[in-house]
Amino acid sequence: MIYLDYAANTPVREEVLAVFLETSRQYIANPNSSHPLGVLAKARLDESTQHMLKMLGASEYELVYTSGATESNNLAIKGIAEKYKNNGKHIITTYLEHSSVNGTVAFLQNAGYEVDYVEINKDGVVDLDHFKELFRKDTILVSVCCVDSEIGLCQPIEQIGTLLKGYPNCFFHVDATQAVGKIPVSLENVDLFTFAPHKFYGLNGCGALLKKTSVMLEPIIHGGISSTPYRSGTPVLPLAAAMEEALSLAIRDMDKNYIYVNALNLKLRDAMKNFPKIRINSTKNSVPFILNISLPGVKIPAFLHELEKDEIYLSSKSACCAPNTVSRPVYALTKDRKAALSTLRISLSHLTTEKELEIFLDRFAECYKKFTL
Ligand code: PLP
Repeated sequence: MIYLDYAANTPVREEVLAVFLETSRQYIANPNSSHPLGVLAKARLDESTQHMLKMLGASEYELVYTSGATESNNLAIKGIAEKYKNNGKHIITTYLEHSSVNGTVAFLQNAGYEVDYVEINKDGVVDLDHFKELFRKDTILVSVCCVDSEIGLCQPIEQIGTLLKGYPNCFFHVDATQAVGKIPVSLENVDLFTFAPHKFYGLNGCGALLKKTSVMLEPIIHGGISSTPYRSGTPVLPLAAAMEEALSLAIRDMDKNYIYVNALNLKLRDAMKNFPKIRINSTKNSVPFILNISLPGVKIPAFLHELEKDEIYLSSKSACCAPNTVSRPVYALTKDRKAALSTLRISLSHLTTEKELEIFLDRFAECYKKFTL
């Protein structure tokens, strides 16, 4: 089996599973209970939370536990929109966002908010001049991903944050789901920051929203008192402790893994030169973990099924996108509908071996022949 879909989900590390099991066995109480067992569980939860805030350089933030990045994005965007609606109803975002951001923004648009999309340049970087043009007195939220999930483009978060300083009524949300644990991230001038551990060898079913302590949100889940007013429900201590472990290991190995994956990515890009009909969409601003290509005119689901016969697994777009539709990020970058309808996303990991890449390329060459000649 050759798995090249690490941007969709990563396998959990044994160390992370061990922490999950150990914490589940050791702490049986609800961290919100006031008896001594509850107090012990709460102390362990606080320990994990504080350690994660420290690792991310986020001492001025509250970490809100969620069920995953989708919920974090929903909470950030709807939470700001509702809480600060008296300051304005204008939102700026990009065409590169994950469906959990653009779907939420579309939901708000239907509810009467105005949404503008900032252009990206030919290298896939948001156009800061266009940003300045779009800003209005009633802009209450800017939401930009740190790295997008399809092309892997990195955005100038610090520069956008600096721009936003001139707009005190506007909050800045960053979806860093494809960045945390893989590249260094900065929280400079960021108000809300999404991530989820299943993208860095942690467990599924949990996520986080970092929220500047001074920022308020209207919760999206109501009822029940919890450790935060922003997200009800019993805090899941074993998931929090497992997230802490995954983050700690990912940060420890980040430089080493980046260098290794970068070398694999260069090999892959080089090999793509053998296939003249392929267009590489990932740019020099993309992270090495994602290589997005297009095969214009090819029926991509059939191409992927052919690879699956040999147990080779990759995606056409983000796993959350509707099939047989254009890739919004690729269309925004290329303005080419055919390219945007025929994307393949190869996503790499430090677990990917050179041998796996060789086998993949051999099989890929056969499929390419079959589907393009
Ligand atoms: N944001 C980005 C950039 C993603 O890549 C993903 C998942 O692919 C999500 C949000 C949603 O994550 P989750 O599956 O944890 O809800």
